[in-house]
Amino acid sequence: MTKKRSADRIVDAIAHFTGHSERDALENSLARSLYDLLNVDRINLYKITYEYNRPIFHLAIYLDSDGLHIDEPDDSPSISEQDRQKLIKCLESGQPILVEQDQSRCAYLHPISDFQGKVSGIFCLCGRNADYQSNKAIIDGYFKIYNNYLRLLDESEHDTLTGLLNRRTFDQDLGKILTEWHQSGLSCENAADLPQRRTNKKGKDNWLAEIDIDYFKRINDQYGHLHGDTVLIEMSNLMQTTFRNADKLFRFGGEEFVVILRNTDKTGATIALNRFMTNLKNHKFPLIGNISVSIGAVEIANETIPSKVLGRADDALYFAKQNGRDQVCWYEQLVKDGIILFPKKNS
Ligand code: GH3
Ligand code: MG
Ligand code: MG
Repeated sequence: MTKKRSADRIVDAIAHFTGHSERDALENSLARSLYDLLNVDRINLYKITYEYNRPIFHLAIYLDSDGLHIDEPDDSPSISEQDRQKLIKCLESGQPILVEQDQSRCAYLHPISDFQGKVSGIFCLCGRNADYQSNKAIIDGYFKIYNNYLRLLDESEHDTLTGLLNRRTFDQDLGKILTEWHQSGLSCENAADLPQRRTNKKGKDNWLAEIDIDYFKRINDQYGHLHGDTVLIEMSNLMQTTFRNADKLFRFGGEEFVVILRNTDKTGATIALNRFMTNLKNHKFPLIGNISVSIGAVEIANETIPSKVLGRADDALYFAKQNGRDQVCWYEQLVKDGIILFPKKNS
């Protein structure tokens, strides 16, 4: 390859992967670009979630001569203790590390950080030591560009006050969940079908809960807007410690939050929301003491468009507010009880 052609290919590859505004596409594209450009055997991307500050690794994507493989957290292959030790070493140092596998081959591990600086993933390139040495500058340059771009993407996906995901990301994520269901060919025509409805491939469903703080205006009026802000931050911390890692937490603006409870049944979703209510009751906010929330919850049922799902949660939340606040109301239950008529215009 001539110098000119090699430079062209690098610029093309960078232009290609930074042309994606979605995280998954960006990751896949970076893996492909590095694989095509360098003479590596395999590229792995390990994603990291934290449970009580303990890192959990899962092999999210890998690319080898058979092509690109993408795994959901529940399906990803288990990681050997030897690989886990390497990943922990890279995670703890927060720096790229080189692990020699034998005389000629090595694994190069590169950490990826989120917008708060927490390591959220590790790329692992496996190949010949000699190829790594001759391409080190290119590889490091790629990861610098990738990390900067990822940080910008991260910032655009999160709410600046609480660090939760924002409304824009919600629209994308909910759209993706609904698309997956449409593609899996499942059908639910109306609420009467709900008990007989087939479940998705893991036998689990997704649920949406809209959470609105009760009488928040009074908190602002009594203690000031700044103190109101700290309540919002504490509320988001409480959500993060209550819900599972796989669940998605959003701030919609103001004192409104949304949780998407992933891959669980109705009982699991009910337990999670009740646990949140209990944790909130036991939480003392500085100066204020206890505060309550009202929650409108709904199944993210197939054949509904994002605005319909939200509209249904809104209806349930409205009912909760009008009937005493400090409670969880389920849309399907309100339909069953004849309180909300189904199907309803615009919902
Ligand atoms: P309800 O129980 O019916 O939900 O009453 P509420 O007072 O919680 O709701 P309302 O919609 O009347 O008031 C919401 C308040 O939230 C009004 C607004 O000033 C405040 N607010 C909106 N965004 C922010 C923010 O970012 N920070 C703070 N501190 N307050 C905010
Ligand atoms: Mg509100
Ligand atoms: Mg409110």
